[in-house]
Amino acid sequence: MLYIIPTPIGNLEDITLRALRILKEVSVVLAEDTRTSKRLFDHFGIKTPLRSFHAHNEHAVVERVVDELASGAVMALISDAGTPGISDPGFLLARACMRRGVRVECLPGPTAFVPALVASGLPCDTFHFEGFLPHKKGRQTRLKYLSALPHTFVLYESPFRLIKCLDELIAVCGPERLACVARELSKLHEEVITLPLDELKAHFSKKEVKGEIVVVVAGI
Ligand code: SAM
Repeated sequence: MLYIIPTPIGNLEDITLRALRILKEVSVVLAEDTRTSKRLFDHFGIKTPLRSFHAHNEHAVVERVVDELASGAVMALISDAGTPGISDPGFLLARACMRRGVRVECLPGPTAFVPALVASGLPCDTFHFEGFLPHKKGRQTRLKYLSALPHTFVLYESPFRLIKCLDELIAVCGPERLACVARELSKLHEEVITLPLDELKAHFSKKEVKGEIVVVVAGI
């Protein structure tokens, strides 16, 4: 069987006791970047072998991994941070397991969009998770689609593109639409700020934007 295991998005205390136990018990842990995961493993004294499983090799190795799982191996999949499959590798392997009848269990745990959405103060009863927008082709089409949604939507964005993204959101949603920038969640410099889009842009234009970012935007 395959365990999909969320890992901390910043604060190492956010790993669960069950995640630690399973990471120690499985025969192999498939990891997005084995160097990043080695640091996590060293911190928690986990000695399980790590094997590369990332966006550049998942198509090539997925069937071999499922063969091993179908023959009885018990493995775990982790990504660099948060929940695998959420803007990270995971979907291909979960689908291949589902098709071959291999049991998949995903542990509940850290992911960036849930704390951003819930702390934003924007309606979170119904929401749309978009993740990263395409950088070029299709970006405007997605932005127009999102701007017309009746419910809150959530984007992942790099700090280098935040101002551009806020400008684009202002163009399609208008300057008064409420939005939230959640930065460095669970880390020392966590900042969650909800304002009309034009005021958010003014706030983040004052100094260089650093860290990891989730943008949450109210629906119409
Ligand atoms: N699998 C992860 C999850 O479950 O959220 C997402 C991985 S994706 C490659 C990385 C993006 O998630 C970052 O660029 C940022 O948008 C968001 N992110 C990850 N950690 C974050 C944090 N501590 N604070 C704010 N956003 C974060």
